[in-house]
Amino acid sequence: MQLVRARVGESVRYGILAADEVRLLSGDPFRVADIGALASGESVPARQCRLLAPVAPGKVFGVGGNYLAHAKEVGLATSAVPPIFMKPPQAVIGPGEAVVLPPPEVSARVEHEGELAVVIGKPARHVARADAESVVLGLTIANDVTARDLQRSDPEVTRAKGFDTFCPLGPHIETSLGIGGGLELTCRVNGELRQRGNTADFVFDIATLIEFLSSWTTLLPGDVILTGSPAGTGPLAAGDEVAISVTGLGELRHSVVSGPR
Ligand code: MG
Repeated sequence: MQLVRARVGESVRYGILAADEVRLLSGDPFRVADIGALASGESVPARQCRLLAPVAPGKVFGVGGNYLAHAKEVGLATSAVPPIFMKPPQAVIGPGEAVVLPPPEVSARVEHEGELAVVIGKPARHVARADAESVVLGLTIANDVTARDLQRSDPEVTRAKGFDTFCPLGPHIETSLGIGGGLELTCRVNGELRQRGNTADFVFDIATLIEFLSSWTTLLPGDVILTGSPAGTGPLAAGDEVAISVTGLGELRHSVVSGPR
């Protein structure tokens, strides 16, 4: 199932994408055990909907250095535990929206990090690896946009990762793929291939990330885990068009604009 969140007229609705229509749900799929029970019978043509980020997360976790080649390119040391950071939920934007670059005197080097994102479907605490898939609603695509200069110069990465608009997410949540890995990811900027990776190359796989996170915090429905970026991260400039694809998840596209000084 392809779960979307969309602006339909004046309201925000969840729905299931099916061919060229969105079958609207009557409620919040993150609050029920059976999404099928929310079928409303209403549908709208997909082209009449403006897709939003498919979830409005409570928490957004990221993991650094989860593909060895990228860890080397940005000089990250390898770690025995997953190097976890958080992005504010206010960083999340939807497909087709714009990443807003900070003024150049604040950051002169903002980079794309195309990533697979995991969306949690159930409250989860102390989840064993073998049970991790049972707490996942599905997968989507993200850009872990990062002010690389601030990542290096700030004492913590929170600001570098956390500007408003620094987490494009979508276009939909695919619920049928499982968390086994082996998905090909590409990131193109203005049509030029910048990143290519495969989730089979994770240092910490999704089950390990869920086991680790849930060992010290409660994961809640709608929380998002960004699984790290393959090599090839590079700078973004105003006017760029970014397209990130993952096997079976479609393509997340967004633009880039300059922010006010
Ligand atoms: Mg990242």
